Amino acid sequence: MDADERIAELCATALEREGPVVFLTGAGISAESGVPTFRGAEGYWKIGSTNYQPEALATRVAFEQMPEEIWAWYLYRRGVCRAARPNAAHMALVSVEKVLGDRFLLVTQNVDGLHLRAGTTAARCYQIHGNIDFMRCEDEHPRVREVPTSISVDWPKARKLSEADRAALSCCGGGGWSRPHVLWFDESYDEELFRFESAMNAGARASMLVVIGTSGATTLPSHLVSIAAHRGIPLIVVGPDDSPFTRAAYGAPNGLVLKGTAGEWVPVLSRALGA
Ligand code: NAD
Repeated sequence: MDADERIAELCATALEREGPVVFLTGAGISAESGVPTFRGAEGYWKIGSTNYQPEALATRVAFEQMPEEIWAWYLYRRGVCRAARPNAAHMALVSVEKVLGDRFLLVTQNVDGLHLRAGTTAARCYQIHGNIDFMRCEDEHPRVREVPTSISVDWPKARKLSEADRAALSCCGGGGWSRPHVLWFDESYDEELFRFESAMNAGARASMLVVIGTSGATTLPSHLVSIAAHRGIPLIVVGPDDSPFTRAAYGAPNGLVLKGTAGEWVPVLSRALGA
């Protein structure tokens, strides 16, 4: 059976079942829009004379030690995300949502906002690692708000915060910093900010899980893939490289690995789902 026939078979199996068709996306789906993943050389960031890996910078510990430098890193990345445009894979998922309606659910690790800018409905798009266009205070009931418009969207790599930037990024209660509205590597998921329980519930009810462009390094995605493999629902993994998720799909009776880019495969999947 070739890949197209297998895709058709798995999609038909999913549509005969009840429950949402869940798409789980990672940085790889935005790579073809020009947003670097964390894995390549472009992921590094220099502070002083030290080259940092993103996993060291995207942490609460790093923010507490050097808030201005971490904010500058986020503001630079926010500029890269804003300059990017949704690609064929983002648009194909919008088409799938049009066909599936309430049976469509997108769980994204991406903070770039590209799914929403492509036209995916916010209520059906769980941004489980936050959104780089937003910030919040560390209050008990955090108010998530957009990064102020006074902060330049075009933020060169070497740029440092000005006095006005510092004031704009301060906590809304005065004193201290607001922080980027993202989930850092040394923090835990929750429902209020990151839809943890909703995503887990969707995984438990899903009729199919399609994983696109993620390396399998974070915990909620790993749970979703384990649940899908355990339940025996169709599990399709799209990406150019091997990962724990491709291994799970190779080992699952209803698993399928589509080696290649999101732009190649997501439109094919969308057509198989009737879009
Ligand atoms: P990752 O950087 O760890 O892995 C990216 C994955 O995408 C790799 O498995 C790679 O093989 C695959 N890939 C590369 N090009 C691809 C393409 N054209 N099509 C399909 N797949 C492709 O990213 P991750 O697994 O999402 O997780 C790391 C964390 O990085 C997440 O918390 C995420 O929030 C954050 N992150 C987000 C963005 C973004 O918002 N665009 C960018 C970088 C990192």
